[in-house]
Amino acid sequence: MAIDPVCKMEVDEETAKHVTEYKGRNYYFCAPGCKKAFEEKPEKYLE
Ligand SMILES: [Zn+2]
Repeated sequence: MAIDPVCKMEVDEETAKHVTEYKGRNYYFCAPGCKKAFEEKPEKYLE
């Protein structure tokens, strides 16, 4: 399972509908709103 970096929910990579690539890595999201928030400010959600 991947962790949604925005809300910290677990997301199954195999069925995830909301995926984005950032700096060569894939990030998975539970919902379009989380994906959008990440894409606007990815550095805010990455440690
Ligand atoms: Zn989420």
